[in-house]
Amino acid sequence: MPYEASPARYDTPSFFARCGRSGLMLPKISLGLWHNFGGVDQFENSRALVRRAFDLGITHFDLANNYGPPPGSAEENFGKMLTLDLAPYRDELVISTKAGYRMHPGPYGEWGSRKYLLSSLDRSLQRMGIDYVDIFYHHRPDPSTPLEESMGALAQAVRSGKAIYAGVSNYDAPTTARAARILRDLGVPALIHQPNYNLFNRWIEPELLGVLESEGMGCIPFCPLAQGLLTNRYLGGIPADSRAANANSPFLNADRVTPETVAKVQKLNAVAQERGQSLARMALAWVLRDARVTTALIGASKVSQIDDCVGATENTHFSSEELAKIDAILA
Ligand code: NDP
Repeated sequence: MPYEASPARYDTPSFFARCGRSGLMLPKISLGLWHNFGGVDQFENSRALVRRAFDLGITHFDLANNYGPPPGSAEENFGKMLTLDLAPYRDELVISTKAGYRMHPGPYGEWGSRKYLLSSLDRSLQRMGIDYVDIFYHHRPDPSTPLEESMGALAQAVRSGKAIYAGVSNYDAPTTARAARILRDLGVPALIHQPNYNLFNRWIEPELLGVLESEGMGCIPFCPLAQGLLTNRYLGGIPADSRAANANSPFLNADRVTPETVAKVQKLNAVAQERGQSLARMALAWVLRDARVTTALIGASKVSQIDDCVGATENTHFSSEELAKIDAILA
């Protein structure tokens, strides 16, 4: 049976938020393909995740050149899903990719040169089988390449029609302000910043968020669930099917699931229960409580997780007592 998207997918207009001062609306929950979409993963599961996400109104899918493993395979798999399911909906999708981390050996396989960024974008488009991405990011700042060169490459990507918008990721506040200025001077406003942000990691407050607000940029926090730590996943040990137990996921090892962390998560879980939310929903709501945050960029290994996460947008308000309680737990 060919895939037909749910006719109800846009029934909740409040699920969309404006990205900074741009014209682009993004869903408040976006799906990233860092884990569970590579060549080592079950394709039919990855495909089910993307279909379910789109059925729920998640129009934004986030990739990078190196997502897999092996690097590049998440883009290849997403390209297959476009062919099989989503090609008729291309104009309804916001597809992003990035370059910055190591993709291939040699001096042109990582960081921020014009050579690397533009050739990487071409390869990403080939792997996905599309003519353009909606957002092209510089994935991490490069201390050795002039910022003008990296931003010039992003602007070139947009001018050539291979990207619609430009973004930066993992940039600190002063570098973001400089990047925004350079891009503005080049006539290609910076759309969005993708930082790590969650209950455990608040480095973007207040300086970076202030820069984003004054530059009119949106914010799409990655790992809003701290890779699953801020969910009920590890409350009773380390499940065999979890990221912490997965040898293909070196970024969350079992040794991160410490008794101290689990004790905090248990207390957070109690606050979530008082709010009538799952812990995952509360963690996402907490990120989305600030109007400067456009969308929370989640990952998922199961369709039921996406269903749960989307429900976070039903209540993103926190009383000052709730915020104080959360801060005390994490102090
Ligand atoms: P999250 O913090 O959302 O963690 C996702 C994991 O949490 C899932 O794989 C799952 O773990 C668990 N989970 C999700 N929903 C639930 C739920 N409702 N209940 C219980 N457990 C749940 O994000 P990721 O770490 O996956 O990162 C998201 C995206 O951010 C990436 O795909 C990528 O696009 C982007 N990113 C960008 C980076 C950058 O440098 N720009 C760096 C890292 C990520 P399990 O697999 O164990 O089931």
